[in-house]
Amino acid sequence: MTSTNQFDIIITGAGPSGATCALTLKKSGLRIALVDKESFPRDKICGDAVSSIAKRILRQIDPELELNLLEFAPKTNITKAKLYSPVFKSLEIGFSKVGHCIKRIDFDNWLFQHACHQHPNLTLKTNHAVKDVYQDKGMNHVKLQNGEILTAPLIIACDGAHSVAAKKLGKIKVDRKHYSGAVRQYYRNIKGLEGNALEVYFLKGYLPGYFWIFPLSNNEANVGFGMLSDTIAKQKIDLKQSLNEIITRIPEVAERFADAEALEDIKGFGLPLGSKKYRLSGNGFMLCGDAASLIDPFSGEGIETAMESGKFAAEQAIQCFKEQNFTGNILKAYDKRVYKKMWPNFRNHYILQQFLGKRIWLINSLISIGNISFINKRIPKLFY
Ligand SMILES: Cc1cc2nc3c(=O)[nH]c(=O)nc-3n(C[C@H](O)[C@H](O)[C@H](O)COP(=O)(O)OP(=O)(O)OC[C@H]3O[C@@H](n4cnc5c(N)ncnc54)[C@H](O)[C@@H]3O)c2cc1C
Repeated sequence: MTSTNQFDIIITGAGPSGATCALTLKKSGLRIALVDKESFPRDKICGDAVSSIAKRILRQIDPELELNLLEFAPKTNITKAKLYSPVFKSLEIGFSKVGHCIKRIDFDNWLFQHACHQHPNLTLKTNHAVKDVYQDKGMNHVKLQNGEILTAPLIIACDGAHSVAAKKLGKIKVDRKHYSGAVRQYYRNIKGLEGNALEVYFLKGYLPGYFWIFPLSNNEANVGFGMLSDTIAKQKIDLKQSLNEIITRIPEVAERFADAEALEDIKGFGLPLGSKKYRLSGNGFMLCGDAASLIDPFSGEGIETAMESGKFAAEQAIQCFKEQNFTGNILKAYDKRVYKKMWPNFRNHYILQQFLGKRIWLINSLISIGNISFINKRIPKLFY
C-alpha cells in the first residue's frame, strides 16, 4: 500500500448522497477519495422528480448552487400532482414550492461536477467499482475492482441500493416489506401532458401499485410503474409486463400513448424504503441515501433524503476529525440526526401506504373527498 492510497474519508458512490457529501466537505481541508463504478454523466433509473427540498439543501450548502440549478437548462417546473382513482376521477394537489423534473443523467452530473469543481483535496476514482470493504486495526480498507486498496479512518457509504458497505459493515439485508421495485421508460409525444404536473394513477388490476407519468423538457416524459416488493413476490408480478399492459390495454391511458414514441427499453431498479429503522453507522462508517434505506415509503422520493443524509454525514465527519474520534459511539449522533429529521415523515407515510394498500376500494372515495376544497388545502401538509 502506498501513501497515495491513504485518505481521511472514502466516499463510495457519487450519486446525490455521495456528491452532496463531497460538496459539503469541500472547505474542510480533509483528504477525500470519491469512488464510483461509473463515469459521469451516467443514467440512474428513477422518476426524475426532484422536490423543492433538494433546492433548500443546496441553498444551505451554498446559495449560488440553488441559483445555478435554476439556470440549468433541461428541466420542467412542477407545481402540482394529479392523482387518478381507478375510475379516473382526479384530485389535484398544488405544491407550495416549485419542484422540478430533471433527467438523472443531467441532474446527477450537474451535482457531481459541482462536487468536484475546485475541490483541491479530492481524489476522484470514477470507473472503479468497490468490490469489498473491511476493517482492520481501526482502519477501513476499500478494495476496488482493479485490486487497488484505499484506506481511511472513515468511510461514508453512498453506493446506493446494492451498497457493498451497507451489507458488509452495516449488516443490512433486504426486507421485502420495506422495499419496492419499479420500472421506468422514457417516452416522447404523449398526448395531453400539462408540463407542470406529476400524474400518478391507481389503476384497477394493478393495485396496490402506482403508474406515473412525469413531464420532462422537449416533450418527453418519464413513465413508470412501482409496487412493494413483498406484493411483487407474493403475486409473482412482472413489472415490465404490467407497464406494457397499462400503456397498451387501458383505454384511457392507451389513447394518450397512441402517437407516443418509446425512447428506450423498460428498465427496473429497487427502492430501499425508510419505513424500517436501521443502525446507520458504526465504528468508522456511516451509511447515506439508498445505502441507508431512506426512501419515502409513500411517494418513493429518495433524492432529497439522499442529499440531506450526505450533508449530515459530512458535518458529522468534520466533528469526528475535530475530536479525532471515529467510534460508533460518537457516530450515533448521525443516526439520531437523520431519524429526528426524517422518521416522522417515514412513519406517517408508511401508515398511509399500509392503509391504502389494504383498502384499495377506498381510493375512489378518498379522491372524491379530497376534491372538497377545505380538505384539499390541507393535503399538501401531509407531504411537506
Ligand atoms: C424506478 C425508480 C423511481 C424513482 N423515482 C424517484 C423520484 O421521482 N424522485 C426521487 O426523489 N426519488 C426517486 N427514486 C429514488 C432515488 O432514485 C434514490 O433514492 C436516489 O437515487 C438515492 O441516491 P443515492 O445517492 O443514495 O444512490 P444512487 O443515486 O443510486 O447513487 C449511487 C452511486 O453509487 C455508485 N455505485 C453503486 N455501486 C457501486 C460500487 N460497488 N462501487 C462504486 N460505486 C458504486 C453508482 O454508480 C451511483 O453513482 C426512484 C427510484 C427508482 C428505482
